[in-house]
Amino acid sequence: MDSRTVGILGGGQLGRMLVEAAHRLNIKTVILDAPNSPAKQINGLHAHVDGSFADADSIRKLAEECDILTIEIEHVDTTILEMLEASGKVQPSWKTIRVIQDKFGQKEHLTSHSVATAPSIAILSNTVATLEEVGQKLGYPFMLKSRTLAYDGRGNYVVKDTSSIPGAIEALTSGSLYAEKWVPFVKELAVMVVRKKDGTCISYPTVETIHENNICKLVYAPARTPQGVQETARRLAEKAVGSLWGAGVFGVEMFLLENGELLINEMAPRPHNSGHYTIEACSTSQYEAHIRAITGLPLFPHNTSMSTPSTNAVMLNLLGPLYLGVAKKALGVKGVTVHLYGKGEAKKARKMGHLTVIAGSMAEAEYQIQPLIDLVDGREE
Ligand code: ATP
Ligand code: MG
Ligand code: MG
Repeated sequence: MDSRTVGILGGGQLGRMLVEAAHRLNIKTVILDAPNSPAKQINGLHAHVDGSFADADSIRKLAEECDILTIEIEHVDTTILEMLEASGKVQPSWKTIRVIQDKFGQKEHLTSHSVATAPSIAILSNTVATLEEVGQKLGYPFMLKSRTLAYDGRGNYVVKDTSSIPGAIEALTSGSLYAEKWVPFVKELAVMVVRKKDGTCISYPTVETIHENNICKLVYAPARTPQGVQETARRLAEKAVGSLWGAGVFGVEMFLLENGELLINEMAPRPHNSGHYTIEACSTSQYEAHIRAITGLPLFPHNTSMSTPSTNAVMLNLLGPLYLGVAKKALGVKGVTVHLYGKGEAKKARKMGHLTVIAGSMAEAEYQIQPLIDLVDGREE
């Protein structure tokens, strides 16, 4: 269908699922990451680049190999991407990636575009006195967060009261920090937004995410909230992504408050864990939507809807050493699709795979997945 080659910075599970989607459209992919990374394992077509997506020379090398350069992780070197801007290859824009990779900068960006987000304060010096001042302004508990290189809650620390300040400083030693007001949310929601090359946005249904120990555990699609909340969340997510630059899919994480108010937690300029369910549940997956958006292939609102009006999905992440046992059991459960990522050692809390159950109602999907959740929780052998 298409003779272009897409270069991807990062070869983890998101890259691997991008490769699957691209190849179905005859679009070739080249990956920059460590040898044998998950995305390279299933993609023997081209010379990949072995190296780091944070290294300028390696990125330049990858750029020579492809027509479009994109990311599956935001922790990349944006200086070189800015230099490559004139080539017209980089999607989404380096500006978007740079704004998002600094979580405090992202908050300032959202606020300046009148998008609601939790009040935040940049920390200029990591001292007890500074954090006590912040505690007075934001109240307790508050969240202390690393501005950069954060994922799966690594880089977050809950400051419960003044006595936990020294521990917080000790825990977060690398890089700049910022503090965020505690949000007493009733649910966490997320929306995958597709930004097309012309800047217009379409969005997938609003989903509900459940985190455990700061890591996404479950995704319910659509969210178990009233229709009005789902629509408001989609409009907010589209507004937020509309304020950025370039094409691609974006994951937008949100907090739903008791009074119905929505605050944006953070955005990701790439496919997102909360959008895995789209592979089985939607007409076009978030991965294919990303490939279509960055290559300028057709994309319509019907692409991002659930496959049928009665399609419901629940996604469960498979973390750490238990993953294989759960995956094997899941193969016997009706409506389940298993995805394993080909990662090395199954360290505790490492994302090794996921599974998605599809059913004709949310009650049925919840019923089918419960034994697998029990297994993950250690309630069942
Ligand atoms: P990701 O893997 O999504 O990139 P991350 O490391 O960037 O994660 P955050 O999204 O900032 O981390 O936070 C992880 C989780 O911590 C959130 O999904 C939410 O459950 C909780 N959390 C974050 N900020 C707050 C807050 N201000 N108030 C209450 N809970 C919060
Ligand atoms: Mg994050
Ligand atoms: Mg997050």
